[in-house]
Amino acid sequence: MKILILSRNPKLYSTSALVRAAESRGHEVRVVDYLRCYMNITSRKPRIYVDGEELVADAVIPRISARHSFYGNAVVRQFEMMNVFTLNDSVAIARSRDKLRSLQMLAKRGVGLPVTGFAHHTEATGELIKMCGGAPLVIKLLEGTQGVGVVLAETSKAAESVIEAFKGLNANILVQEFIQEAKGADIRCVVIGGKVVASMKRQAAEGEFRSNLHRGGSAEKVKITPEERATAIRAAKAMGLNLAGVDLLRSNHGAVVMEVNSSPGLEGIEASSKKDVAGSIIEFIEKAAVKKPKSIQSG
Ligand code: ADP
Repeated sequence: MKILILSRNPKLYSTSALVRAAESRGHEVRVVDYLRCYMNITSRKPRIYVDGEELVADAVIPRISARHSFYGNAVVRQFEMMNVFTLNDSVAIARSRDKLRSLQMLAKRGVGLPVTGFAHHTEATGELIKMCGGAPLVIKLLEGTQGVGVVLAETSKAAESVIEAFKGLNANILVQEFIQEAKGADIRCVVIGGKVVASMKRQAAEGEFRSNLHRGGSAEKVKITPEERATAIRAAKAMGLNLAGVDLLRSNHGAVVMEVNSSPGLEGIEASSKKDVAGSIIEFIEKAAVKKPKSIQSG
């Protein structure tokens, strides 16, 4: 198969792991920077080019960064118009990039979530805090990644000040029940084609509640419960993602989903779970891509 990886940096661990996994299974693989791709979107014969060359592929693996979602997703959509199989489709990627929309979709499908509130106007701040069960509360910037803009407010007064400060900067935020009993740990499950293929537990550094590896958190192997497995699978399905990194917190009211990522990093999870996640992704593509109608080839 001709597999195209849309990634800005071929040196990234996840990208090179996917290249290795595809090559070792006998596929022709190429990494293309999606920001360098261009296309005629009105053409009745959709095509896509890079540096004067037309791109041809049987399957596309999108690794679109949050910063370039808009253009990256347009590139993925163009491949869809060409009937090329894409690991995650552009609509599902776009949904997963919008935290609020994601939580609403998960709630609609009955997936367990931390109690979460959202409001536009600061007049509603007091009510919002009450609705989420009062302090301690977590306040999150909707546009944040890697734990930036995730704040723990220990008192209602502090929560009020943080909400008002963010709102004063015109930032969109959500307010969430603090899952104290998770003790600074979360569980990342990688779901591929409706199966959990690997999981890890991330533990926040001493004195920190955010377990992001970028914030000094550490990762270790974990055995997940059947309920956690089922929740991760349901979350990926609700979002319509073939590949998803589902982040769970172990709360007193069961496993709750914090976030669903459409481009989960592979380094931490492969190292801690000792699973060949990149290999599982390629295996899934081998099965799923052939079900699609034959892709449009050049000429
Ligand atoms: P980001 O997408 O920026 O990583 P997250 O929503 O995943 O933001 O939050 C970052 C970290 O903060 C999580 O990995 C988790 O450890 C912690 N955290 C987030 N929300 C809660 C919560 N409601 N209760 C307890 N811990 C939380």
